[in-house]
Parts: sequence; structure tokens; C-alpha cells
Amino acid sequence: MKPKILLVEDEKDLVKLIKYNLEKDGRFAVSSAGDGEAGLALARKSKPDLVILDIMLPKMDGLEFLRELRRESGVPVVLLTAKRGELDRILGLKLGADDYVCKPFSVGELGARVEALLRRAAPGRDGDGAGTGASIGGISIDFERHEVAVRGKKVRLAPKEFAILKLLVEANGKVLSRDQLLREIWGHDDDVEIDTRTVDQHVARLRRKLRPEDARIATVTNFGYQIKR
Ligand code: CA
Repeated sequence: MKPKILLVEDEKDLVKLIKYNLEKDGRFAVSSAGDGEAGLALARKSKPDLVILDIMLPKMDGLEFLRELRRESGVPVVLLTAKRGELDRILGLKLGADDYVCKPFSVGELGARVEALLRRAAPGRDGDGAGTGASIGGISIDFERHEVAVRGKKVRLAPKEFAILKLLVEANGKVLSRDQLLREIWGHDDDVEIDTRTVDQHVARLRRKLRPEDARIATVTNFGYQIKR
């Protein structure tokens, strides 16, 4: 099945251009909404595999949309941001967006980001077969299917939350510093001022989703995190 993409953008010409390019060669199925409220309704209804989100939107802006969306879904999100809107971009990444492109961008670049993110979200799909599964107390993780369950109940993690959990589990009790996590997971975002507080925010979100097993991720004060078996 083709991956489903939800595009939330109010500039009609841009919607047309992106839709045309992503649907070309039958790569993706793209649906679109012209404002934040309609986008949220469509996200709930169509359960997309990835969301492309403009920040400047009528009714509910992109950041508000993202805050709402993250309460209920870990779907990968790519932000479309204006060059001058650096604060928006940083805030967007902190709110749980997974990547961004700056306007004006090439649709080819956007397509490449979308593909990379979908690959990361479903590592089993391109057959890299990295590991199979692990369980830490009541948390079970299927690395291939990118699925996590807490005491038998599935939880949806955003790609970066999953990446943090995976690194900690692979470190097998060794402490990982916040800098290490930052480099490993945000390494390609060198041009954005993301600091270690961003790591803390993502870990906080990850822990909330892992409740009541959240204590499995232990804080090492002023340094980093480790997994407790
Ligand atoms: Ca706009």
C-alpha cells in the first residue's frame, strides 16, 4: 500500500505542486487541508503515515496543530517553515516535529525528506533487519515493526522518542549523556540551535507514554540517562 500523506497548507499553488510531485510515479497518496482545524479533523479520520505541516495557517496555526496532534499521535511530521521563522522552527521541533524544510524549497528535497522519515519510522520495511525485539520490565519493543507495548498495551511513539528508547536499550544499562543522544538523534540538524534541554523534553514525553513503566528510564543528574532492567 502507498504511504498516506496529509498536507496541511493554505497556499493553493504550493498544495498543487507538492501533491503533483509526491503522487507522481504512484509513490504516495496525498490528501490536503487548507487550515489547522480541517487538518486535525482529517488527521483523525484518515490516519496518515506522515504529515507535512505549514506553520502559518488560518484558524489554527501549525504549532497549535502540532501540539494537539502530539496528544494523540506519534505520526512523523515535516514542517514547512519560512527562513525568517527560526523561532517557530525550533519550537516546532521541540513540540515533536521530526524534520523541516525552509521555504522556498525544492519539491525534490521535500520528497527526499519524506522518504527518509518514512524509512526511519518503519525500519523493517527496507529490510535492514536490525535486531528483532527486546523487553525491559513491562516494556516490549519490536525494532523491526517499530512497535512498543507497555504491559501488553501498544503505545505510539514519535520517531525521535523511539530512537531515544532504542539507543538506551542498546546501551544496555550504560549511561548515555544528553550530548551523545543529541548527536546521535539530532545530528543532521546542525544548523538549528537545539540544546540538551530538547533531549530532556523528548525523554519527558517518552516517559509519559511509558507509564507506569516510566521509571525504567533513569536520570543521571546533570549527565544523561540509562535504562534500568
Ligand atoms: Ca501558509
